[in-house]
Amino acid sequence: MEKGIIFVISGPSGSGKSTIINRFMEKHKKDFFLSISATTRQPRKGEVNGKDYFFYEKNKFILDMKKNKFIEYAKILDNFYGTPKGPIFNNINKGKNVIMDIDVQGARKIKEKLKNCVTIFIMPPDFDELENRLRKRKTDSEKSIQKRLKLAKKELKERKNYDYIIINNDIEETVNIIENIVKLEKFKRYKI
Ligand code: 5GP
Repeated sequence: MEKGIIFVISGPSGSGKSTIINRFMEKHKKDFFLSISATTRQPRKGEVNGKDYFFYEKNKFILDMKKNKFIEYAKILDNFYGTPKGPIFNNINKGKNVIMDIDVQGARKIKEKLKNCVTIFIMPPDFDELENRLRKRKTDSEKSIQKRLKLAKKELKERKNYDYIIINNDIEETVNIIENIVKLEKFKRYKI
């Protein structure tokens, strides 16, 4: 059986990345598995444990880290985030593609370990729009918004290391571009 492909998607907070991934998953849940990360960050309003993230105490996270349960992990703005290893390999071995929503540090680590993965960077149309989106979602304090904007500037510089860069002008258009990337990557695999 053909193995699934891992698609790693990164982009700064406010780039629209989560909305894009949710929309994509609505359309493709039969063929794709969306990796659910563990984090020590507090849940935001409306976030559900086991759906958006596995919300862990710091001790539990460190224990899993030591037990090598994460394929990668990173510290982002004072919190830990990690991708549980088991579900990733279970799904690609079953022929399902995997989507991982992780930051630039995580993407770099995954690309080193799994050369065959496909990395996609989602860009906001411009920096003002990024700030607008962060403010509009009303989930972060002013301090947190400032920290995220600073981090976004740093992350944007990393985009050149990705296989694909998409400027997110429109959600449906971006989802459509990702669908096309998936199609093309499947063709590429015939060479392997
Ligand atoms: P947020 O706190 O806004 O949900 O996520 C902050 C950042 O953490 C985002 O860039 C998101 O992609 C990233 N992230 C989420 N889960 C993981 C993970 O398991 N590993 C890494 N490296 N980054 C993650």
